[in-house]
Amino acid sequence: MGPGHPECPARLDAIEDRLLVSGVSAALDHREAPLASLADIELAHDRMHVAALRGLSLRLVEEEDAGGSPYFQLDTDTAMNRHTWTAALRAAGAAIEATDAVMAGELENAFCSVRPPGHHAMRAKAMGFCFFNNVAIAAKYALQRHNLKRVAVIDFDVHHGNGTEDILAGDERALMVSIFQHPFYPYSGDQDPAPNMLNVPVPAYTKGMDVREIVEMVWMPRLEAFKPEMIFVSAGFDAHRDDDMGQLGLTEQDYAWITMRIKDIARRFANKRIVSCLEGGYMMGPLSRSVEAHLRVLADL
Ligand SMILES: [Zn+2]
Repeated sequence: MGPGHPECPARLDAIEDRLLVSGVSAALDHREAPLASLADIELAHDRMHVAALRGLSLRLVEEEDAGGSPYFQLDTDTAMNRHTWTAALRAAGAAIEATDAVMAGELENAFCSVRPPGHHAMRAKAMGFCFFNNVAIAAKYALQRHNLKRVAVIDFDVHHGNGTEDILAGDERALMVSIFQHPFYPYSGDQDPAPNMLNVPVPAYTKGMDVREIVEMVWMPRLEAFKPEMIFVSAGFDAHRDDDMGQLGLTEQDYAWITMRIKDIARRFANKRIVSCLEGGYMMGPLSRSVEAHLRVLADL
């Protein structure tokens, strides 16, 4: 994204370091993600949008090679460089590969440690550090290619997953439940645009115990009634109390607890199938500790 931008490569390094030092890494099955095919990307995105990003990427390489800027600014906080196109295809490819592995029974669940993130990417628009909507693509892929009838998307990033909502609203095969700070970027989600969307906006400074109560009282009954056959998680960790991107008060213990409740639903209805994808989380310490807490629950460590 450019120097000084919070959505930076150091995020994945911090996660990898933390998993190594804590010993969690040794207990996991690591896989390198393939690139997603354009046909799979187009399960969730408008073909013209995909072609436009591809064209921008090619033009950027040409212009940089001719002495121009290495960055192209899509909006005030979202920039591309010559590697963005491939990174975005690989992030989506991770979610698809994880879906295949979990559907094949090779893994009970999977975490995709990826960037760029995805949940602000709309059907026909890149925004908010996101280009392709990794979770929405994987959810559509599970429905189309694996013939599932019901999938759930759970989003606990501090920001509203407006892109996922844009792609999945009205698709009754999907249920999206989310909690996010409001009013706050991207200033959407105060209403449910379709019956398959359950948005829970919460004010700044909401604490972990209150978030847990919402998960228990609001999310759980809807998830139980929907009986998802597979669960996708937009795992953003920027609602951590020490992450200054947002003003919510979650801790590592809250992320572990939410992950346990997601696992309960997966065990009861979804043959344990969960694919979780990294979204936000911008302070290296809280981000890496929260991912560790999430993975310890997912992997029963
Ligand atoms: Zn976020």
